[in-house]
Amino acid sequence: MFGVIGPDIEAARLTYFGLFALQHRGQESAGIAVSDSDNLTVYKDLGLVAQVFDESTLAGLPGSLAIGHTRYSTTGSNSWENSQPVFRHLGSNGIALAHNGNLTNTAHLAKSTDGGISTTDSELMTDAIAASMSQDGADLAEALASVLPTFEGAFSLAVMDRTTLVGVRDPYGFRPLCLGRLDENWLVASETAALDIVGAEFVRQISPGEMVVIDEDGPKSHYPFENPTSSLCLFEFVYFARPDSILFGQTIHTTRQEMGRLLAEQAPVDADITVPVPESGIPAAQGFAAVSGIPYIDGLVKNRYVGRTFIEPTQTMRERGVRMKLNAMPGVIAGKRVVLVDDSIIRGSTTKQLVAMVREAGASEIHLRISSPPYRWPCFYGMDTGDRETLLASSRSVDEIADHLGVDSLVYLELENLIEATGADADAFCTACLSGDYPTDVPTTDSKYLLERTP
Ligand code: SF4
Repeated sequence: MFGVIGPDIEAARLTYFGLFALQHRGQESAGIAVSDSDNLTVYKDLGLVAQVFDESTLAGLPGSLAIGHTRYSTTGSNSWENSQPVFRHLGSNGIALAHNGNLTNTAHLAKSTDGGISTTDSELMTDAIAASMSQDGADLAEALASVLPTFEGAFSLAVMDRTTLVGVRDPYGFRPLCLGRLDENWLVASETAALDIVGAEFVRQISPGEMVVIDEDGPKSHYPFENPTSSLCLFEFVYFARPDSILFGQTIHTTRQEMGRLLAEQAPVDADITVPVPESGIPAAQGFAAVSGIPYIDGLVKNRYVGRTFIEPTQTMRERGVRMKLNAMPGVIAGKRVVLVDDSIIRGSTTKQLVAMVREAGASEIHLRISSPPYRWPCFYGMDTGDRETLLASSRSVDEIADHLGVDSLVYLELENLIEATGADADAFCTACLSGDYPTDVPTTDSKYLLERTP
């Protein structure tokens, strides 16, 4: 998610590059809303950023205020209708909204607003804001201040009308959102790497519960929520965020290397080579190798043009994805005792195939080291992990998982060590998928597709 406002900037083009840097956060669809003060236009489609936009589409999006979004669905299916930014007409005005996260009171909101034509939580939010503006005559900031407290769960938002950009983080701050500056232009972005890529300066993280309203007078902060606290997603550090993004004052890459160092201290092993699962296992494997002294070797080769398998929406696609994505090198692996380092195991199907691939390449032993704790509980805050039964660790002990995967040994990083690697205090994080300790009430029966009328 990305947004920019300035006195004199090609906002859609800048947003395109910002989205390009954030492509890893969602690969189902991409969209940009832009305003030239008179007209608010949205262009979006299914596909990657580079597939959706080209020179001619960007040339048709003039204006110096824009927001953009890459979608990874957690509510609603992967369809054009559900792509973002969501747009609603409001007389001569209009609003557009981009949402990162997932609401936990979607069913309640749908009932209280009659649902309308909405098929996602993001549309319900847009409808509520639009209703406040049209019924109460509120401006965008006033409408947001009045309706935001009715939303529950995870929502980092970039919202705009024709003249104002607003960045919002929910009162738990589940998903990151930062503020940046490029000369006289102001930006909001899900990750600091998107600011780097467009040459902007990182100003600061927007705080949990903060709403930053940016117009021609610059940014002003508002705090529409009672008692905000920090429950930043710990999995941003493990998997979601780019290695070159900064959270809590250090790059994610540094944090992931530290996870590997702590994992090596926690679970020493006698082996010949440390092999990372590219790419998110690489920094942890580097840290592991540095502490253990077991040489780091690239034994798996990744086709870098294939998307991340975990965030593809169906199991079938995921299974197809891993075969396209990675290949083991027998010349490196044959006859070796291998420490295989990965960042996480969710459903286990990818890992099982990987282990089989390394075994086929001739490894004499495979010692799997995972730089996060077992993922046992489903996420309701923006990671589409499906039902609890689909999670490999939900009903298995670590020994049973090792048997299932066919490895000689398996060790997960302890939660305390993962938190230590971030350099922040434990109470700054949501750890629900790893600990079962949810910071909010969560729906136990709602389906991802609860707002969709036809299958
Ligand atoms: S449940 Fe897990 S993935 Fe979801 S927000 Fe919390 S830490 Fe992140």
